[in-house]
Amino acid sequence: MPSGDALPRKGQMVVMSGPSGAGKSTLCRRLLEDPRVHFSISATTRAMRKGEVDGRDYHFILPEQFRQLIREGAFIEHAEVHGNLYGTLRRPMEEALARGEVFLLEIDVQGANQLKALGEPGLYVFVAPPDFETLRRRLVGRGTDAPEIVERRLKKAEDEYRERVKYDHVVINDDLERALRQIRSLIGLE
Ligand code: 5GP
Repeated sequence: MPSGDALPRKGQMVVMSGPSGAGKSTLCRRLLEDPRVHFSISATTRAMRKGEVDGRDYHFILPEQFRQLIREGAFIEHAEVHGNLYGTLRRPMEEALARGEVFLLEIDVQGANQLKALGEPGLYVFVAPPDFETLRRRLVGRGTDAPEIVERRLKKAEDEYRERVKYDHVVINDDLERALRQIRSLIGLE
């Protein structure tokens, strides 16, 4: 899209990353209780998990559709995570920011790096687990993934953890309510 078409930006982009099991999704759900906050519904090629809803949690699409959207320039960032493709759609983000909303992205560190490289202004928050043993317990406890997938996610978590220095803020999620208060205050929602 030519840059002349860009909508005016009144809102604020908030990027949240962190290892799976660090509690990002719960924090996002709680942040969304505020009507000023709008969630970025990513497109993904991964299979839908139990309890997920197409169009609410993700747009679940086929790899061919994903590649077509890449060609069309529909994504502001996209990345491969755990063998699946994920991407943030440019248009809904521009529209939410033009409406003055807080646009909340839950994306991995590759995606956050891409947005930073593009010079996208926003608040970049890294959600960290209290420690890796807690992370393992959370991943096993939620029971959504097979043991070898849990191991893969733990390995990725360690790699991701090193990237926290690139973020504006690191929030340690040892106490959900405290982490939530901290993030709300960083965004200016208090
Ligand atoms: P899950 O499959 O567990 O929902 O997500 C796996 C990882 O993909 C998480 O780290 C999540 O933050 C990341 N992710 C979700 N949507 C996007 C996206 O649009 N772009 C990028 N780069 N990562 C995403």
